Amino acid sequence: MKTLETILRNDTPHWVGDGFPVRSLFSYHGETAPISPFLLFDYAGPWNFEPVKGHPRGVGEHPHKGFETVTIVYDGEVSHRDSSGGGGTIGTGEVQWMTAGAGVLHEEFHSPGYSRTGGPFRMVQLWVNLPAKDKLTPAKYQAITRDMIPEATFDGGLARIIAGEFGGAKGPATTFTPINLWDVRLEADAEITLPVPDGHTTMVAVLSGHVTIDGKGVGEAEIARLTREGSDAAVKADGDAMLLVMTGEPINEPVFGYGPFVMNTEAEIRQAIADFNSGRFGALAPA
Ligand code: MN
Repeated sequence: MKTLETILRNDTPHWVGDGFPVRSLFSYHGETAPISPFLLFDYAGPWNFEPVKGHPRGVGEHPHKGFETVTIVYDGEVSHRDSSGGGGTIGTGEVQWMTAGAGVLHEEFHSPGYSRTGGPFRMVQLWVNLPAKDKLTPAKYQAITRDMIPEATFDGGLARIIAGEFGGAKGPATTFTPINLWDVRLEADAEITLPVPDGHTTMVAVLSGHVTIDGKGVGEAEIARLTREGSDAAVKADGDAMLLVMTGEPINEPVFGYGPFVMNTEAEIRQAIADFNSGRFGALAPA
């Protein structure tokens, strides 16, 4: 059985553009080895946006290189457009798994429809590192719609399997290293054992509600980081709870990052900045 190592939290929110009120619950700017293969976890919202008449709120064109961004929309809708020719809208309950790889430019805004009506907004953006051998893979994205995400049900709740495997249900996301990503909903007083693998970095993010893990309370917008050793994690829901469970095989390589670029060495970061400045990231698909 895994035990609790630490609880990660961040009570200082910041805005990403004007559309995403974010708490970074962990980030690669600190020590990276304990969280590998994950790099950053931004919890946006919960928030209530008023309707907008003009251009939707969000964040304009910006680059990424050397890793993947995984965007999970719980409330609201996010529209995106990128330099690989892709674009679309991530609806409520849907996921976008974007591989920035060799480099991508994109923009992320509230969808025009959601922007006009306003209402509740809640989203997670998780950054997942790529192993050195895959950092220059061509940019691509996987649009994972609701109907593609299988549900594993158990006594006291259910898990929507975005990546990896849970009780025979296999998630649709293709990953470069072994990763589990589960959207878990628990009913009050549920006591479950999550089948998380031995050796994986293992984190349980509480998005709403309160749970007890290894005898300690974990509340809203907190992440329990468990030991890599041990399989299975016992979680008790102290009320209805919504969790995002992340596990991954650590990538034991140096991490050198600068803002939206995450490579292995400083020289590679200098190259990424030079490539971006000289337009080698391409251009956004026409709106
Ligand atoms: Mn981005």
